Amino acid sequence: MSVEQELMTRSGSKCELCASIENLSVMEVSPSDGSVQKSILVCSTCKEQVEDKEKMDANHWHCLNDSMWSEEDAVKVVAYRMLSRIASEGWPQDLLDMLYLEDDVKAWAEAGLADENREPTRDSNGTILEAGDSVSVIKDLVVKGAGFTAKQGTTVKNIHLVPGNHEQIEGRVNGTKIVLLSCYLKKL
Ligand SMILES: [Zn+2]
Repeated sequence: MSVEQELMTRSGSKCELCASIENLSVMEVSPSDGSVQKSILVCSTCKEQVEDKEKMDANHWHCLNDSMWSEEDAVKVVAYRMLSRIASEGWPQDLLDMLYLEDDVKAWAEAGLADENREPTRDSNGTILEAGDSVSVIKDLVVKGAGFTAKQGTTVKNIHLVPGNHEQIEGRVNGTKIVLLSCYLKKL
């Protein structure tokens, strides 16, 4: 079966975001490997607005009230990105607060959001950092509130980007989730 046929079966031949049955097509959810799991079936209205920020009509996205509870990670990822985008334009973010994503799904969602950010997060060398990257700390950093120092040379794996702040990343050091300034990091 083709990806499109599988998605038609999965969705009941409906847009997986707004349930429209018109003008359906496959949209890969970046970063995608082309698999069914990383694709969703969408109508042309949803697709256009997901792909072009300028065309977004926040009223259309009331549909996420239902679709954000999908069992498909790819649908939740798109819901998270659209709700983040809507919140960044000053609309209420109560749905975004309710949407729970597993860590790996959230990293996927944020990887795509990072692409949309005007300002990429950069390390001390100006290299762009993405969710899931590993970085090394380039100088001893006192971690306020955590009571320890992140030593120079500490490796932080599987970092998360901070939406709306390109000077920070989140990562685990000594098992504690902390915020680090990207200018003190080097991508590995
Ligand atoms: Zn739709």
